[in-house]
Amino acid sequence: MGYVLGLRCKECGKEYPKEPKHVCELCFGPLEVKYDFDAIKKVLTRELIESRKPNMWRYKELLPLDGEPTVGLDVGYTPLHEAKNLAKKLGMKKLYLKNDSVNHPTFSFKDRVVASAVSKAKEFGFDAVGCASTGNLANSVAALAAEGNMEAQVFIPFDLEAGKVIASQVFGPKLVKIYGSYDDVNRLCSEIADKYKVAFVNINIRPYYGDGSKSYGYEIAEQLGWRAPEQVVVPIAGSSLITKVYTAFKEFETLGLIGKVNTKMFGAQATGCSPVTTAVKNGWDNFKPQKPTTIAKSIAIGNPADGYYGIKVINESGGWAEDVTDKELVDGINLIASTEGIFTETAGGVVVSVTQKLLEQGKLDPDKETVLCITGNGLKTQEALVGRYPDAPEIYPKLEEYEKVKADL
Ligand SMILES: *Cc1c(COP(=O)(O)O)cnc(C)c1O
Ligand SMILES: [Zn+2]
Repeated sequence: MGYVLGLRCKECGKEYPKEPKHVCELCFGPLEVKYDFDAIKKVLTRELIESRKPNMWRYKELLPLDGEPTVGLDVGYTPLHEAKNLAKKLGMKKLYLKNDSVNHPTFSFKDRVVASAVSKAKEFGFDAVGCASTGNLANSVAALAAEGNMEAQVFIPFDLEAGKVIASQVFGPKLVKIYGSYDDVNRLCSEIADKYKVAFVNINIRPYYGDGSKSYGYEIAEQLGWRAPEQVVVPIAGSSLITKVYTAFKEFETLGLIGKVNTKMFGAQATGCSPVTTAVKNGWDNFKPQKPTTIAKSIAIGNPADGYYGIKVINESGGWAEDVTDKELVDGINLIASTEGIFTETAGGVVVSVTQKLLEQGKLDPDKETVLCITGNGLKTQEALVGRYPDAPEIYPKLEEYEKVKADL
């Protein structure tokens, strides 16, 4: 392999060697991984990619490792499901769901970023990995650290869903609950990362984390038959996924693997934590931080690390952004479940109901090929639905008993 040249500042362009570093010393801009695209173009073809196993590493030349991956070898290549029933319900022509609610091993798209970051942390010689998390990232760091025989230190807000907490604890990490929001957790983790030798996947080795998300975009393009969709709706927390999915399409275009990219990117947040969508709707270049109050905890980041770039991608691509209430997002969870048989978490509910809202506003074109990013699994956020359905009848195992309740089912 060896297509990674180093790091480069997204703002001033200053270059750095490959190291565990994420902020530019000159301008404090974020650092990105720089690849040798001329060399990649000579080797990477559709045929080569198609000949490889169905996981995110089939695009390994475009991922930030020097050697082969050491954890998360089965991550990715999740279904791109054509959602005919949901499309009909919404009055759309061609609708797909990129379904990372069934990603391996912890049922969210975070397995992609963590597989990339933990493999990189191993290359750098770290013994411990960590994260500041809204839930899914903690699950994934704990799982992939276990697979990689590394120590995991995961930090989460104290009030996360029970399913998210247990789904970290089962892997045996060092887990700390913080009195505060994700943004408070993140601030503390930055201080810990400065002082102790821990690879915080979304802080000090963030450039290598973010690029794992590109695989989500590469897969969409490949699974559509080697083209970028016309519209994509993405849930936004830190704004990494939305920027990296767009980057992925653009890189495939640069490499000649797909034709010209005309994709409009649409951002989705919960109204109770909507710094990015609020900025887009008001025409601001940058966001104002918020204090989160929503049940969509996995995307409740009030001060998003890449928020500025998320807004930029939405505007430059000609897309738009919207947010929905907690009640609307629950309706979204129920709608996708009842039409497509997919149980997604609160973030997925946000995407579905934002899509509905954008269609009503005329911002999304119902006739254009659209992909919704379904990024997490509903079994982990059952609190959102508890008490929302009538109790099922309980009967003795007798035919007469069944016949008594049959008509009311
Ligand atoms: C983290 C997360 C997101 C958003 O990711 P960012 O890259 O931080 O914007 C979306 N959906 C789910 C389920 C997540 O866990
Ligand atoms: Zn810089």
